[in-house]
Amino acid sequence: MKNVNIGFIGLGNMGNPMARLLVQHGYRVYGHDIDPNAIRTFDCFGGIPAPLTELFENANIIILMLPNSQVVNQVIEEIISCLGNELTDRNFTIIDMSSSYPLETQRNAHKLAQLGIAFLDAPVSGGVKKAATGELTIMVGGNREVFDKHRELFAVLGKQVFYVGPSGSGHLVKMLNNFLSAAHLLATCEAVHTLSAFGVDPQTGICIFNHSTGSSISTKYKFPEFILPQTFASGFSLGLLAKDVSMTKQLLRDRGIDTPLSNLLSEIYGGAACALGKEADHTEIFRFVAKFFDEERKNSNM
Ligand code: NAD
Repeated sequence: MKNVNIGFIGLGNMGNPMARLLVQHGYRVYGHDIDPNAIRTFDCFGGIPAPLTELFENANIIILMLPNSQVVNQVIEEIISCLGNELTDRNFTIIDMSSSYPLETQRNAHKLAQLGIAFLDAPVSGGVKKAATGELTIMVGGNREVFDKHRELFAVLGKQVFYVGPSGSGHLVKMLNNFLSAAHLLATCEAVHTLSAFGVDPQTGICIFNHSTGSSISTKYKFPEFILPQTFASGFSLGLLAKDVSMTKQLLRDRGIDTPLSNLLSEIYGGAACALGKEADHTEIFRFVAKFFDEERKNSNM
């Protein structure tokens, strides 16, 4: 067992496999989640379920893997009130690995620095599958020395670990990555429905895209694995992807910039999350796009 205790808050689709890897690598991991099912899974692989107060008593590194900035802010407030006067006495680091809003991250880093708490933003890409195998891509913002101190921890969770720059820059890159991902997923949905409308086998089309300039992680992975077989089981919800695209639009607006694609993607993914539910898998956007082809389908069946 390593002599490092970690507190892990947010044991959902990503948090649980990440925490499990840490346990397997000999860390003592204290975990907290508001969902009892998440806690049960965590308990099964050797994590130590703990209320927030106990978590802070035992761990000097706290990892957050929460849905959004609103929840991250709320948990940071809880951490601050739990730690009370003890704050500056302890060498304490909070690492926000959620996909949070970069401007909130900057505010959190500033607030925590005043209390003597180090803070890194270290969001991830790669999804549930790579979370389980420790092959995530991790992009880190914050103080470089604090990052260097936690390299060993990041190496357990990620295969590619990048230091990006000051606080918020990791979250900025993550947000933009998902903006790109949302754009090619949507474009591929329209392309594949168009293939079907013209009687061309989608499998054939996807195979050709993968040998051509239209290829992307959507054509290479999401369509063959989750969309064409209609399992829609990627483990990344539509609500979370809609959050990422709406954060992109919001960040641009906050800087007085209005772009057509950020508006359009935000509207379409937001509409899909309303229609299908936030908990739907993000690959189900394919089902949402189908409705634009309904009229054509009706006419061709007449
Ligand atoms: P999830 O909804 O499965 O997990 C979030 C967990 O946080 C849940 O178990 C929930 O109960 C818990 N939670 C919510 N409020 C809480 C609170 N106040 N205190 C303690 N726990 C609380 O989400 P996820 O898919 O694991 O994603 C987590 C983060 O990682 C998100 O920011 C997401 O955008 C990002 N992300 C997800 C993926 C993916 O493939 N799922 C990939 C990369 C990044």
